[in-house]
Amino acid sequence: MHNKIKELLQFGTVGAKVAIKGWIRTKRINKQVVFLTINDGSCQQHLQVVMTPSELPKELLNQLVTGASVAVSGCLVASKGTKQSVELHGDHLTLLGSAPDYPLQPKPHSLEFLRTWMHLRFRTNTFGAVFRIRHAISYAIHHFFHERGFCYLHTPIITAADAEGAGELFRVTSLDAAHPPKNPDGSIDFRADFFNTATNLTVSGQLAAEAAAMGLGAVYTFGPTFRAENSNTSRHLAEFWMVEPEVAFNNLDDTIALAEGLLKSLSADLLKTCPEELDFLNQRLQGHKNEADKTPSMDLLERLQFVLEQPFARITYTEAIAILMEAASNKNGTFAYPVTGWGIDLQSEHERYLVEQHFKRPIVVTDYPKDIKAFYMRQNDDGKTVAAMDILFPGVGEIIGGSQREERIDYLKQAMQRAHIEDLNWYLDTRRFGTIPHSGFGLGLDRFVLFVTGMENIRDVIPFPRTPGHVAC
Ligand code: ATP
Ligand code: MN
Repeated sequence: MHNKIKELLQFGTVGAKVAIKGWIRTKRINKQVVFLTINDGSCQQHLQVVMTPSELPKELLNQLVTGASVAVSGCLVASKGTKQSVELHGDHLTLLGSAPDYPLQPKPHSLEFLRTWMHLRFRTNTFGAVFRIRHAISYAIHHFFHERGFCYLHTPIITAADAEGAGELFRVTSLDAAHPPKNPDGSIDFRADFFNTATNLTVSGQLAAEAAAMGLGAVYTFGPTFRAENSNTSRHLAEFWMVEPEVAFNNLDDTIALAEGLLKSLSADLLKTCPEELDFLNQRLQGHKNEADKTPSMDLLERLQFVLEQPFARITYTEAIAILMEAASNKNGTFAYPVTGWGIDLQSEHERYLVEQHFKRPIVVTDYPKDIKAFYMRQNDDGKTVAAMDILFPGVGEIIGGSQREERIDYLKQAMQRAHIEDLNWYLDTRRFGTIPHSGFGLGLDRFVLFVTGMENIRDVIPFPRTPGHVAC
Protein backbone atom coordinates (compact mmCIF):
# COMPACT_ATOMS: atom_id res chain seq x y z
CA MET A 1 0.00 0.00 0.00
CA HIS A 2 1.14 3.52 -0.72
CA ASN A 3 -0.22 6.94 0.23
CA LYS A 4 -1.82 9.49 -2.06
CA ILE A 5 0.11 12.74 -2.14
CA LYS A 6 -3.14 14.70 -1.83
CA GLU A 7 -3.87 13.05 1.50
CA LEU A 8 -0.33 13.50 2.81
CA LEU A 9 -0.38 17.21 2.01
CA GLN A 10 -3.79 17.65 3.63
CA PHE A 11 -3.67 15.34 6.62
CA GLY A 12 -0.10 14.02 6.90
CA THR A 13 1.38 14.30 10.38
CA VAL A 14 5.01 15.10 10.97
CA GLY A 15 6.93 11.95 11.95
CA ALA A 16 4.62 9.52 10.10
CA LYS A 17 6.17 6.68 8.07
CA VAL A 18 4.75 6.88 4.56
CA ALA A 19 5.27 5.53 1.05
CA ILE A 20 4.43 7.22 -2.25
CA LYS A 21 4.54 6.38 -5.94
CA GLY A 22 4.60 8.91 -8.75
CA TRP A 23 6.52 10.69 -11.50
CA ILE A 24 9.48 12.99 -11.06
CA ARG A 25 8.73 16.55 -12.13
CA THR A 26 12.00 18.20 -11.12
CA LYS A 27 15.36 17.26 -9.62
CA ARG A 28 17.87 19.54 -7.90
CA ILE A 29 21.07 18.11 -6.57
CA ASN A 30 24.13 19.24 -4.64
CA LYS A 31 26.77 17.40 -2.59
CA GLN A 32 24.60 16.97 0.49
CA VAL A 33 21.06 16.56 -0.81
CA VAL A 34 18.87 15.56 -3.74
CA PHE A 35 15.52 17.32 -3.98
CA LEU A 36 12.88 15.61 -6.10
CA THR A 37 9.38 16.94 -6.65
CA ILE A 38 6.94 14.12 -7.23
CA ASN A 39 3.40 14.24 -8.60
CA ASP A 40 1.03 11.27 -8.56
CA GLY A 41 -1.99 12.90 -10.23
CA SER A 42 -4.06 13.02 -7.05
CA CYS A 43 -3.76 16.80 -6.78
CA GLN A 44 -2.24 19.91 -8.25
CA GLN A 45 0.67 20.06 -5.81
CA HIS A 46 3.87 18.04 -5.85
CA LEU A 47 5.43 16.44 -2.81
CA GLN A 48 9.03 17.36 -2.19
CA VAL A 49 11.29 14.36 -1.49
CA VAL A 50 14.68 14.90 0.11
CA MET A 51 17.40 12.22 -0.08
CA THR A 52 21.10 11.94 0.63
CA PRO A 53 22.99 11.41 -2.65
CA SER A 54 25.74 9.35 -1.05
CA GLU A 55 23.15 6.73 -0.10
CA LEU A 56 22.05 6.25 -3.73
CA PRO A 57 24.11 4.32 -6.32
CA LYS A 58 25.51 6.70 -8.92
CA GLU A 59 23.78 4.91 -11.79
CA LEU A 60 20.39 5.19 -10.08
CA LEU A 61 21.03 8.85 -9.31
CA ASN A 62 21.59 9.54 -13.01
CA GLN A 63 18.30 7.91 -13.90
CA LEU A 64 16.29 10.16 -11.59
CA VAL A 65 15.17 12.58 -14.29
CA THR A 66 11.94 14.41 -15.16
CA GLY A 67 9.39 11.86 -16.33
CA ALA A 68 10.83 8.83 -14.55
CA SER A 69 8.55 6.94 -12.15
CA VAL A 70 9.61 6.10 -8.60
CA ALA A 71 8.44 4.61 -5.33
CA VAL A 72 9.76 6.32 -2.20
CA SER A 73 9.28 5.51 1.45
CA GLY A 74 10.44 7.49 4.44
CA CYS A 75 9.36 9.92 7.08
CA LEU A 76 7.24 13.06 6.80
CA VAL A 77 8.94 16.15 8.18
CA ALA A 78 7.88 19.76 8.49
CA SER A 79 8.83 21.58 5.32
CA LYS A 80 11.27 24.46 5.51
CA GLY A 81 9.92 25.90 2.29
CA THR A 82 6.79 28.00 2.33
CA LYS A 83 5.01 26.18 -0.50
CA GLN A 84 3.83 23.18 1.48
CA SER A 85 3.47 22.02 5.03
CA VAL A 86 5.33 18.70 4.84
CA GLU A 87 8.00 17.01 2.80
CA LEU A 88 9.27 13.46 2.65
CA HIS A 89 12.71 12.50 3.92
CA GLY A 90 13.20 9.37 1.85
CA ASP A 91 15.16 6.45 3.17
CA HIS A 92 14.29 4.07 0.40
CA LEU A 93 13.83 4.79 -3.32
CA THR A 94 13.02 2.37 -6.15
CA LEU A 95 13.13 3.39 -9.79
CA LEU A 96 9.95 2.00 -11.40
CA GLY A 97 10.51 3.26 -14.93
CA SER A 98 13.37 5.29 -16.35
CA ALA A 99 12.68 8.08 -18.88
CA PRO A 100 15.70 8.76 -21.09
CA ASP A 101 15.04 11.60 -23.57
CA TYR A 102 11.66 12.42 -22.02
CA PRO A 103 10.29 15.17 -24.29
CA LEU A 104 8.57 17.35 -21.67
CA GLN A 105 10.93 19.52 -19.70
CA PRO A 106 10.02 21.18 -16.40
CA LYS A 107 9.31 24.53 -18.04
CA PRO A 108 6.20 25.97 -19.67
CA HIS A 109 5.53 24.39 -23.06
CA SER A 110 3.11 25.85 -25.56
CA LEU A 111 -0.28 24.13 -25.82
CA GLU A 112 0.40 23.54 -29.52
CA PHE A 113 3.60 21.69 -28.66
CA LEU A 114 1.79 19.63 -26.03
CA ARG A 115 -0.84 18.64 -28.60
CA THR A 116 1.96 16.81 -30.44
CA TRP A 117 2.50 14.81 -27.23
CA MET A 118 -1.18 14.27 -26.45
CA HIS A 119 -0.52 10.99 -24.64
CA LEU A 120 2.01 12.61 -22.29
CA ARG A 121 0.31 15.92 -21.59
CA PHE A 122 -1.66 14.38 -18.68
CA ARG A 123 1.62 14.69 -16.80
CA THR A 124 1.69 18.49 -16.91
CA ASN A 125 0.26 20.88 -14.32
CA THR A 126 -2.10 22.47 -16.84
CA PHE A 127 -3.66 19.27 -18.09
CA GLY A 128 -3.77 17.73 -14.64
CA ALA A 129 -5.89 20.72 -13.60
CA VAL A 130 -8.10 20.61 -16.71
CA PHE A 131 -8.91 16.91 -16.40
CA ARG A 132 -9.52 16.95 -12.67
CA ILE A 133 -11.94 19.84 -13.28
CA ARG A 134 -13.59 17.95 -16.15
CA HIS A 135 -14.11 15.02 -13.80
CA ALA A 136 -15.49 17.22 -11.02
CA ILE A 137 -18.00 18.82 -13.39
CA SER A 138 -19.14 15.44 -14.74
CA TYR A 139 -19.67 14.15 -11.23
CA ALA A 140 -21.57 17.32 -10.26
CA ILE A 141 -23.84 16.98 -13.30
CA HIS A 142 -24.95 13.51 -12.24
CA HIS A 143 -25.38 14.75 -8.69
CA PHE A 144 -27.50 17.72 -9.82
CA PHE A 145 -29.95 15.60 -11.79
CA HIS A 146 -30.04 12.71 -9.34
CA GLU A 147 -30.94 15.09 -6.52
CA ARG A 148 -33.86 16.42 -8.56
CA GLY A 149 -35.29 12.99 -9.35
CA PHE A 150 -34.09 12.68 -12.96
CA CYS A 151 -33.41 9.27 -14.48
CA TYR A 152 -30.05 8.87 -16.28
CA LEU A 153 -30.91 7.49 -19.70
CA HIS A 154 -28.42 5.67 -21.94
CA THR A 155 -29.49 6.60 -25.45
CA PRO A 156 -28.05 4.71 -28.43
CA ILE A 157 -24.80 5.69 -30.10
CA ILE A 158 -25.68 3.95 -33.36
CA THR A 159 -28.93 5.31 -34.72
CA ALA A 160 -31.05 5.47 -37.84
CA ALA A 161 -32.50 8.86 -36.86
CA ASP A 162 -30.93 12.21 -37.64
CA ALA A 163 -32.30 14.51 -34.95
CA GLU A 164 -31.21 17.73 -36.58
CA GLY A 165 -32.52 16.87 -40.02
CA ALA A 166 -29.22 17.95 -41.50
CA GLY A 167 -26.12 16.33 -42.96
CA GLU A 168 -23.04 16.18 -40.76
CA LEU A 169 -23.41 12.46 -40.02
CA PHE A 170 -20.77 9.81 -39.54
CA ARG A 171 -22.04 6.78 -41.41
CA VAL A 172 -21.88 3.44 -39.57
CA THR A 173 -21.67 0.51 -41.95
CA SER A 174 -20.30 -3.00 -42.28
CA LEU A 175 -20.56 -2.94 -46.09
CA ASP A 176 -17.41 -3.54 -48.11
CA ALA A 177 -16.24 0.00 -48.88
CA ALA A 178 -14.64 -1.11 -52.15
CA HIS A 179 -17.66 -3.05 -53.48
CA PRO A 180 -20.89 -1.88 -51.81
CA PRO A 181 -24.13 -3.37 -53.16
CA LYS A 182 -25.88 -0.91 -55.45
CA ASN A 183 -29.45 -0.01 -56.32
CA PRO A 184 -30.39 0.06 -60.01
CA ASP A 185 -29.89 3.87 -59.95
CA GLY A 186 -26.29 3.44 -58.79
CA SER A 187 -26.82 4.55 -55.17
CA ILE A 188 -25.66 2.30 -52.32
CA ASP A 189 -28.24 -0.29 -51.23
CA PHE A 190 -28.23 0.03 -47.45
CA ARG A 191 -30.88 -2.67 -47.14
CA ALA A 192 -27.96 -5.08 -47.47
CA ASP A 193 -26.14 -3.38 -44.57
CA PHE A 194 -25.88 -4.73 -41.02
CA PHE A 195 -29.12 -3.15 -39.77
CA ASN A 196 -30.89 -3.44 -43.15
CA THR A 197 -30.92 0.33 -43.28
CA ALA A 198 -28.50 3.26 -43.29
CA THR A 199 -27.21 4.13 -39.82
CA ASN A 200 -24.99 6.80 -38.31
CA LEU A 201 -23.38 7.83 -35.03
CA THR A 202 -25.75 9.87 -32.90
CA VAL A 203 -25.82 13.68 -33.26
CA SER A 204 -28.12 14.01 -30.24
CA GLY A 205 -29.98 11.71 -27.86
CA GLN A 206 -32.96 14.03 -27.77
CA LEU A 207 -35.60 12.13 -29.71
CA ALA A 208 -35.00 9.02 -27.62
CA ALA A 209 -34.97 11.15 -24.47
CA GLU A 210 -38.34 12.67 -25.42
CA ALA A 211 -39.88 9.20 -25.70
CA ALA A 212 -38.43 8.27 -22.30
CA ALA A 213 -39.53 11.52 -20.62
CA MET A 214 -43.09 10.72 -21.68
CA GLY A 215 -43.10 7.82 -19.27
CA LEU A 216 -40.34 8.48 -16.78
CA GLY A 217 -41.17 12.19 -16.40
CA ALA A 218 -37.68 13.65 -16.17
CA VAL A 219 -34.63 12.12 -17.81
CA TYR A 220 -31.16 13.18 -18.90
CA THR A 221 -28.57 11.75 -21.21
CA PHE A 222 -24.84 12.31 -20.82
CA GLY A 223 -22.70 10.79 -23.50
CA PRO A 224 -20.55 11.14 -26.59
CA THR A 225 -22.07 12.91 -29.57
CA PHE A 226 -20.71 12.95 -33.12
CA ARG A 227 -20.88 15.57 -35.82
CA ALA A 228 -18.99 15.47 -39.09
CA GLU A 229 -19.23 19.23 -39.52
CA ASN A 230 -16.15 20.40 -41.27
CA SER A 231 -15.74 23.42 -39.02
CA ASN A 232 -12.17 23.64 -37.87
CA THR A 233 -12.89 26.13 -35.09
CA SER A 234 -11.70 26.38 -31.50
CA ARG A 235 -15.27 25.53 -30.34
CA HIS A 236 -16.10 22.40 -32.38
CA LEU A 237 -15.10 18.77 -31.99
CA ALA A 238 -16.17 15.87 -34.20
CA GLU A 239 -16.69 13.84 -31.00
CA PHE A 240 -17.91 15.77 -27.98
CA TRP A 241 -19.93 15.16 -24.83
CA MET A 242 -23.44 16.44 -24.43
CA VAL A 243 -25.81 16.54 -21.47
CA GLU A 244 -29.46 16.51 -22.53
CA PRO A 245 -32.24 16.78 -19.93
CA GLU A 246 -35.80 16.33 -21.16
CA VAL A 247 -38.74 17.06 -18.89
CA ALA A 248 -42.43 16.25 -19.24
CA PHE A 249 -44.82 19.19 -18.65
CA ASN A 250 -42.00 21.80 -18.73
CA ASN A 251 -42.51 24.88 -20.89
CA LEU A 252 -39.78 27.13 -22.29
CA ASP A 253 -39.52 29.23 -19.10
CA ASP A 254 -39.17 26.08 -16.99
CA THR A 255 -36.37 24.77 -19.18
CA ILE A 256 -34.53 28.10 -19.08
CA ALA A 257 -34.78 28.06 -15.29
CA LEU A 258 -33.46 24.49 -15.19
CA ALA A 259 -30.54 25.40 -17.47
CA GLU A 260 -29.63 28.53 -15.50
CA GLY A 261 -29.91 26.56 -12.25
CA LEU A 262 -27.61 23.85 -13.62
CA LEU A 263 -24.91 26.26 -14.81
CA LYS A 264 -24.97 28.13 -11.50
CA SER A 265 -24.92 25.00 -9.42
CA LEU A 266 -21.97 23.58 -11.39
CA SER A 267 -20.05 26.84 -10.96
CA ALA A 268 -20.71 26.93 -7.22
CA ASP A 269 -19.64 23.29 -6.81
CA LEU A 270 -16.43 23.84 -8.69
CA LEU A 271 -15.36 26.71 -6.46
CA LYS A 272 -15.65 24.26 -3.56
CA THR A 273 -14.20 21.10 -5.15
CA CYS A 274 -11.32 22.41 -7.26
CA PRO A 275 -9.89 25.57 -5.65
CA GLU A 276 -6.26 24.59 -6.28
CA GLU A 277 -6.87 23.71 -9.92
CA LEU A 278 -8.76 26.96 -10.52
CA ASP A 279 -6.07 28.92 -8.76
CA PHE A 280 -3.38 27.34 -10.90
CA LEU A 281 -5.27 27.97 -14.17
CA ASN A 282 -6.05 31.48 -13.06
CA GLN A 283 -2.35 32.28 -12.56
CA ARG A 284 -1.62 30.73 -15.92
CA LEU A 285 -4.23 32.95 -17.54
CA GLN A 286 -2.98 36.08 -15.79
CA GLY A 287 0.56 35.31 -16.98
CA HIS A 288 -0.66 35.08 -20.55
CA LYS A 289 -2.65 38.26 -20.23
CA ASN A 290 0.44 40.23 -19.36
CA GLU A 291 2.17 38.84 -22.44
CA ALA A 292 -0.50 39.39 -25.05
CA ASP A 293 -3.38 41.17 -23.28
CA LYS A 294 -6.00 39.58 -25.49
CA THR A 295 -7.57 37.20 -22.97
CA PRO A 296 -10.87 38.09 -21.28
CA SER A 297 -10.44 40.80 -18.70
CA MET A 298 -11.99 38.98 -15.74
CA ASP A 299 -9.99 36.39 -13.89
CA LEU A 300 -11.29 32.85 -13.62
CA LEU A 301 -12.70 33.04 -10.13
CA GLU A 302 -14.38 36.35 -10.91
CA ARG A 303 -15.95 34.78 -13.97
CA LEU A 304 -17.39 31.90 -11.96
CA GLN A 305 -18.65 34.26 -9.25
CA PHE A 306 -20.16 36.38 -11.97
CA VAL A 307 -22.09 33.45 -13.47
CA LEU A 308 -23.24 32.62 -9.98
CA GLU A 309 -24.40 36.02 -8.88
CA GLN A 310 -25.88 37.72 -11.95
CA PRO A 311 -29.26 36.69 -13.30
CA PHE A 312 -28.72 35.87 -16.98
CA ALA A 313 -30.02 38.58 -19.32
CA ARG A 314 -32.96 37.49 -21.45
CA ILE A 315 -33.80 38.79 -24.92
CA THR A 316 -35.66 37.57 -27.98
CA TYR A 317 -33.94 36.86 -31.26
CA THR A 318 -35.80 39.85 -32.73
CA GLU A 319 -34.34 42.13 -30.04
CA ALA A 320 -30.89 40.63 -30.61
CA ILE A 321 -31.06 41.46 -34.32
CA ALA A 322 -32.09 45.04 -33.53
CA ILE A 323 -29.10 45.45 -31.19
CA LEU A 324 -26.71 43.93 -33.73
CA MET A 325 -28.00 46.08 -36.59
CA GLU A 326 -27.18 49.16 -34.53
CA ALA A 327 -23.80 47.85 -33.33
CA ALA A 328 -20.78 49.89 -34.40
CA SER A 329 -19.05 46.64 -35.45
CA ASN A 330 -21.87 46.05 -37.91
CA LYS A 331 -22.00 49.59 -39.25
CA ASN A 332 -18.26 49.90 -39.76
CA GLY A 333 -17.93 46.45 -41.31
CA THR A 334 -15.90 44.76 -38.55
CA PHE A 335 -18.16 41.69 -38.56
CA ALA A 336 -17.06 39.02 -41.04
CA TYR A 337 -20.77 38.23 -41.49
CA PRO A 338 -22.73 41.50 -41.71
CA VAL A 339 -26.09 41.51 -39.94
CA THR A 340 -28.47 42.29 -42.77
CA GLY A 341 -31.80 41.80 -41.03
CA TRP A 342 -34.34 39.51 -39.42
CA GLY A 343 -33.98 35.85 -40.40
CA ILE A 344 -30.20 35.45 -40.50
CA ASP A 345 -28.51 32.82 -38.34
CA LEU A 346 -26.41 34.30 -35.52
CA GLN A 347 -22.70 33.69 -36.06
CA SER A 348 -20.30 33.17 -33.22
CA GLU A 349 -18.95 36.74 -33.62
CA HIS A 350 -22.50 38.09 -33.18
CA GLU A 351 -23.11 35.95 -30.11
CA ARG A 352 -19.86 37.12 -28.56
CA TYR A 353 -20.63 40.75 -29.33
CA LEU A 354 -23.96 40.46 -27.49
CA VAL A 355 -22.41 38.75 -24.46
CA GLU A 356 -19.03 40.44 -24.18
CA GLN A 357 -19.67 43.96 -25.46
CA HIS A 358 -23.35 44.67 -25.08
CA PHE A 359 -24.74 42.81 -22.05
CA LYS A 360 -21.43 41.85 -20.41
CA ARG A 361 -22.96 38.75 -18.85
CA PRO A 362 -24.45 35.40 -19.92
CA ILE A 363 -27.60 35.82 -21.98
CA VAL A 364 -30.55 33.72 -23.01
CA VAL A 365 -31.82 34.38 -26.53
CA THR A 366 -35.32 33.08 -27.24
CA ASP A 367 -37.87 32.79 -30.06
CA TYR A 368 -35.74 32.25 -33.15
CA PRO A 369 -37.16 32.17 -36.70
CA LYS A 370 -38.49 28.69 -37.36
CA ASP A 371 -36.60 28.45 -40.64
CA ILE A 372 -33.18 28.40 -38.95
CA LYS A 373 -34.12 25.97 -36.16
CA ALA A 374 -34.80 22.23 -35.90
CA PHE A 375 -38.14 20.71 -36.90
CA TYR A 376 -39.14 19.57 -33.38
CA MET A 377 -39.28 23.04 -31.83
CA ARG A 378 -42.72 24.35 -30.88
CA GLN A 379 -44.16 26.93 -33.23
CA ASN A 380 -45.16 30.21 -31.59
CA ASP A 381 -48.52 31.88 -32.26
CA ASP A 382 -46.90 34.41 -34.63
CA GLY A 383 -46.36 31.55 -37.11
CA LYS A 384 -42.81 32.76 -37.75
CA THR A 385 -40.82 31.88 -34.65
CA VAL A 386 -40.33 28.85 -32.42
CA ALA A 387 -40.05 28.45 -28.62
CA ALA A 388 -36.27 27.99 -28.77
CA MET A 389 -33.58 29.25 -26.44
CA ASP A 390 -29.80 29.46 -26.69
CA ILE A 391 -27.60 30.37 -23.73
CA LEU A 392 -24.53 32.36 -24.71
CA PHE A 393 -21.43 32.65 -22.53
CA PRO A 394 -18.46 35.02 -22.58
CA GLY A 395 -15.46 33.61 -24.42
CA VAL A 396 -17.39 30.62 -25.73
CA GLY A 397 -20.59 31.76 -27.41
CA GLU A 398 -23.37 29.16 -27.45
CA ILE A 399 -23.06 26.76 -24.54
CA ILE A 400 -26.66 25.49 -24.43
CA GLY A 401 -29.34 25.08 -27.08
CA GLY A 402 -32.85 24.05 -26.13
CA SER A 403 -36.55 24.42 -26.79
CA GLN A 404 -40.08 23.56 -25.94
CA ARG A 405 -40.97 20.66 -28.23
CA GLU A 406 -43.86 20.65 -30.69
CA GLU A 407 -46.48 18.47 -29.01
CA ARG A 408 -49.26 19.07 -31.59
CA ILE A 409 -49.07 16.32 -34.16
CA ASP A 410 -50.35 18.37 -37.10
CA TYR A 411 -47.74 21.09 -36.62
CA LEU A 412 -45.06 18.46 -36.13
CA LYS A 413 -45.98 16.63 -39.33
CA GLN A 414 -45.88 19.88 -41.30
CA ALA A 415 -42.47 20.78 -39.87
CA MET A 416 -41.14 17.33 -40.72
CA GLN A 417 -42.39 17.66 -44.26
CA ARG A 418 -40.67 21.03 -44.62
CA ALA A 419 -37.42 19.46 -43.36
CA HIS A 420 -37.84 16.36 -45.60
CA ILE A 421 -37.83 13.99 -42.64
CA GLU A 422 -39.38 10.58 -43.12
CA ASP A 423 -39.17 7.29 -41.24
CA LEU A 424 -39.88 8.80 -37.83
CA ASN A 425 -43.22 7.13 -37.30
CA TRP A 426 -42.20 5.92 -33.84
CA TYR A 427 -41.53 9.54 -32.86
CA LEU A 428 -44.98 10.61 -34.05
CA ASP A 429 -46.44 7.89 -31.80
CA THR A 430 -45.30 9.93 -28.80
CA ARG A 431 -47.71 12.63 -30.03
CA ARG A 432 -50.44 10.16 -31.01
CA PHE A 433 -50.65 8.61 -27.58
CA GLY A 434 -51.01 10.95 -24.62
CA THR A 435 -49.08 13.91 -26.00
CA ILE A 436 -48.00 16.61 -23.51
CA PRO A 437 -46.03 19.85 -23.47
CA HIS A 438 -42.37 19.07 -22.76
CA SER A 439 -39.00 20.75 -23.06
CA GLY A 440 -35.31 20.12 -22.87
CA PHE A 441 -31.88 21.32 -23.86
CA GLY A 442 -28.37 20.21 -24.76
CA LEU A 443 -25.34 21.45 -22.82
CA GLY A 444 -21.96 20.99 -24.47
CA LEU A 445 -19.79 19.67 -21.65
CA ASP A 446 -16.57 20.51 -23.46
CA ARG A 447 -17.66 24.11 -23.97
CA PHE A 448 -18.50 24.49 -20.29
CA VAL A 449 -15.08 23.08 -19.36
CA LEU A 450 -13.56 25.56 -21.82
CA PHE A 451 -15.32 28.40 -20.03
CA VAL A 452 -14.38 27.44 -16.48
CA THR A 453 -10.75 26.55 -17.22
CA GLY A 454 -10.07 29.64 -19.33
CA MET A 455 -8.47 27.44 -21.99
CA GLU A 456 -8.88 28.87 -25.47
CA ASN A 457 -9.14 25.80 -27.65
CA ILE A 458 -11.64 22.99 -27.20
CA ARG A 459 -8.89 20.53 -28.22
CA ASP A 460 -7.27 21.27 -24.87
CA VAL A 461 -10.18 20.23 -22.65
CA ILE A 462 -10.83 16.70 -23.95
CA PRO A 463 -8.24 13.94 -23.54
CA PHE A 464 -7.94 12.86 -27.18
CA PRO A 465 -9.69 15.35 -29.48
CA ARG A 466 -11.18 14.32 -32.82
CA THR A 467 -11.26 17.14 -35.36
CA PRO A 468 -11.18 17.23 -39.17
CA GLY A 469 -7.96 15.52 -40.25
CA HIS A 470 -6.94 14.58 -36.70
CA VAL A 471 -7.50 11.39 -34.76
CA ALA A 472 -4.27 11.02 -32.80
CA CYS A 473 -4.09 8.13 -30.30
P1 ATP B 1 -23.01 25.61 -32.94
O1 ATP B 1 -23.99 26.56 -33.56
O2 ATP B 1 -22.08 26.24 -31.96
O3 ATP B 1 -22.30 24.74 -33.94
P2 ATP B 1 -25.28 23.93 -32.51
O4 ATP B 1 -26.35 24.95 -32.48
O5 ATP B 1 -25.07 23.14 -33.72
O6 ATP B 1 -23.88 24.58 -32.06
P3 ATP B 1 -26.79 22.22 -30.74
O7 ATP B 1 -27.26 21.28 -31.76
O8 ATP B 1 -27.74 23.24 -30.22
O9 ATP B 1 -25.46 22.94 -31.27
O10 ATP B 1 -26.11 21.39 -29.55
C1 ATP B 1 -26.25 21.73 -28.17
C2 ATP B 1 -24.92 22.13 -27.56
O11 ATP B 1 -23.88 21.16 -27.86
C3 ATP B 1 -24.36 23.42 -28.09
O12 ATP B 1 -24.93 24.51 -27.44
C4 ATP B 1 -22.88 23.29 -27.80
O13 ATP B 1 -22.60 23.60 -26.43
C5 ATP B 1 -22.62 21.81 -27.98
N1 ATP B 1 -22.05 21.52 -29.30
C6 ATP B 1 -22.69 21.46 -30.50
N2 ATP B 1 -21.87 21.11 -31.49
C7 ATP B 1 -20.64 20.93 -30.92
C8 ATP B 1 -19.36 20.54 -31.42
N3 ATP B 1 -19.17 20.24 -32.72
N4 ATP B 1 -18.33 20.44 -30.54
C9 ATP B 1 -18.52 20.73 -29.24
N5 ATP B 1 -19.70 21.09 -28.70
C10 ATP B 1 -20.75 21.19 -29.52
MN1 MN C 1 -27.79 25.29 -30.95
